[in-house]
Amino acid sequence: MRTVLNFFRCVAAVAVLGVLPSRAVTFSGQYYLPVAEFARENGLHVYTENGGKEAIVTGDKNTRLIFNVNSAQAVIDGINVRLSYPVAADHGQLYMAQMDIETAIRPLIFSQRPGAKRITTICIDPGHGGKDSGYHVGGYGFLGHSEKTYTLALALELRRQLMRAGFRVILTRSSDIFIHLPDRPALANRDGADLFISLHFNGYFGSRADEAAIEGPETYCITPVGAPSSNAHGEATEFGSAVGAGPTVANHCEDKSLLLAYQMEKSLVQNLHADDRGVRRARFAVLRDAEMPAILIEGGYITNPVESKKIYSSDYRKQMAAAIVKAIEEYQRLTSVSHVPSLH
Ligand SMILES: [Zn+2]
Repeated sequence: MRTVLNFFRCVAAVAVLGVLPSRAVTFSGQYYLPVAEFARENGLHVYTENGGKEAIVTGDKNTRLIFNVNSAQAVIDGINVRLSYPVAADHGQLYMAQMDIETAIRPLIFSQRPGAKRITTICIDPGHGGKDSGYHVGGYGFLGHSEKTYTLALALELRRQLMRAGFRVILTRSSDIFIHLPDRPALANRDGADLFISLHFNGYFGSRADEAAIEGPETYCITPVGAPSSNAHGEATEFGSAVGAGPTVANHCEDKSLLLAYQMEKSLVQNLHADDRGVRRARFAVLRDAEMPAILIEGGYITNPVESKKIYSSDYRKQMAAAIVKAIEEYQRLTSVSHVPSLH
């Protein structure tokens, strides 16, 4: 049965790729292709380093992809992107999962989306609110710092900047009130938003040394159907999300959501000079139910003693909002009809 299934997966993959993968193999039930073959078929170059454990794929316009054996962390033009499956090696050859080629690599390096409609309305979703404080650090209640306070502050600043840039903006909440998760994407759907952006701040509760070590933004988009999510800890349950593979549904705009997440992470890391915690995948309810490209930004860690001080400052949130606007404008440029396919 497994063989039959793999055969059909293979046929489906060939249909998607439009080429016959001559050296495809199966690892842990997943269909894999040699990295070298993927590169060759797409006019890219590949070489290995680190005793053959690292593959570097290069192309025109500074495209540079880095893959490591047994790792699901790829680096795409300097930004970390979490793959669904680790890169594998066999007889000195590096392989990557067909699913990752289709759902993580191809949408980013060949990002042309002819016919994409111009972005006019953006739905901003400040995470948590009311009885749901999100992460909380410091003293009890008002003596401490709640995530919900800063997601709202960032959202209000972001609304100002987006409106100045000519966008129409809707907020899922503009005060400290509780909103059920399904109501958030539902509002975006009902109002015909072109993008959905959920704002959160992160928390990691461990030893003082660990809390000091973990900082930086993460940007999530929906997990591909059938693949495991990359949020091993954190806010999985509060969004009604399941970690791991299983019966799954996906957002209707997976490729565009990934491209938006990538541009967002890149802009946040570069403009805020922040640690790159990477583009990640999760089945958060707010992402799953949105009918437009949708991402969730974890803008940094309020458990980190240095980054939290920045998050609490309105100047830093202004910079973060500016970085978000830049990412949206870059995404718009990349998805406009006249654009030539490229990451840059
Ligand atoms: Zn949150």
